[in-house]
Amino acid sequence: MLPPLASRFVAGESAAEVLEHARRTNERGVGVICNRLGEHYHERGPADADTAAYERLVADIGASDLRACVSVKPSQLGLQVDEGLFRTNLGRVVDAAASHGVFVWIDMEDHTTTDATLDAFEAEARDHAGGVGVCVQSNLRRTADDLERLADVPGKVRLVKGAYDPPADVAYRDKARVNEAYRSDLEFMFREFDDGVAVGSHDPAMLTHAADLHTRYGTDYEVQMLMGVRTDAQYDLAGAVDVWQYAPYGSEWPAYFWRRVMERKENALFALRALAGA
Ligand code: FAD
Repeated sequence: MLPPLASRFVAGESAAEVLEHARRTNERGVGVICNRLGEHYHERGPADADTAAYERLVADIGASDLRACVSVKPSQLGLQVDEGLFRTNLGRVVDAAASHGVFVWIDMEDHTTTDATLDAFEAEARDHAGGVGVCVQSNLRRTADDLERLADVPGKVRLVKGAYDPPADVAYRDKARVNEAYRSDLEFMFREFDDGVAVGSHDPAMLTHAADLHTRYGTDYEVQMLMGVRTDAQYDLAGAVDVWQYAPYGSEWPAYFWRRVMERKENALFALRALAGA
C-alpha cells in the first residue's frame, strides 16, 4: 500500500486509485494525465503487460465522465526490446484510446530515443489527428529543428526543459541557456503551431512568458504540471487557462517518489517534515 508520504506525488497503486484522484482533481478544475509507472523494460513480457493495462485504462476513462488522458513512455512499451515492438504497442494504445475518445501523450526519454519517439509520434498523429501528443526537451540542441518538423504534424506538443542529463555535444548544460532555449522554442510554437501548445513547466517565468505569447499570437495553450508540485498554483491557474496535472500511479512508485524528493530542496524538506511528524 502507498504510504501517506508518497501520496503527495503518486496517485496510488491501482488504476482505480488514479481514476479516483482524477475525479477529485477535476473538481478543482484541473484535468489529469494518468501515467502508469514503468520504464526501461528489456523484455517483451512487461512491455506487453503495460500496453494491455493502458488499453484497459483508456476504456475506463472513456466509460467515465472524467477529464483525463494518458501519457506513455517509449521504453515502457518496448523500445529497448525492439523499435518494432514499441511501434506495435503504441499503436495498440492509440487505437484503443481513439475508440474511447481518449488523448494519448508520449513522454520523451533520453536523447538516444528522440528519433524513434518522434517517428512513432508522427505516424500515429497522422493516422489519429487530434488524438496524440509528444513531449520535446528544450535542453537538446536539436529541438529547434524538431519543432520545425512538428509544426506540420497534426498533434499536440508538450515543451519541457528536459529531465535527463545528456552530454554537452547534444545538449545545453547551462541552466540559463536551457531557459533561453525554452523561451525561444515556446515562441516558435505559439507562432507556428495550429493544434495547441502544452507548457510543461512549474517555472513562474515561463508561465508568464506563455501567457504573453498567447496574448500576442492568440494560440490556444494548456499548462501541465506534476502531481504534488505547486498544487495551489495549478488550482489558481485553472480559472484562466486549461491546466492538466501529470499523475503517476502503479506499483513501481518508490523509484519515482525518491526522484521527486531528491530533485529539489522543497520536496526533500517536505519528506523530512512528514517523516518527523510520522
Ligand atoms: P525548473 O527549471 O526546475 O525550476 C524553475 C522554477 O520553477 C523554480 O525556480 C521554481 O520557482 C519553480 N519550481 C520548479 N520545481 C518546483 C517544485 N518542485 N516546487 C516548487 N517550485 C518549483 N521531462 C522529460 O525529459 N521528458 C518528459 O516527458 C517530461 N514530461 C513532463 C511532463 C510534465 C507535465 C512536467 C511538468 C514535466 C515533465 N518533464 C519531462 C520534466 C521537465 O523536463 C523538467 O525536468 C521539470 O519540469 C523541471 O523543470 P521546470 O521547468 O518545471 O522548472
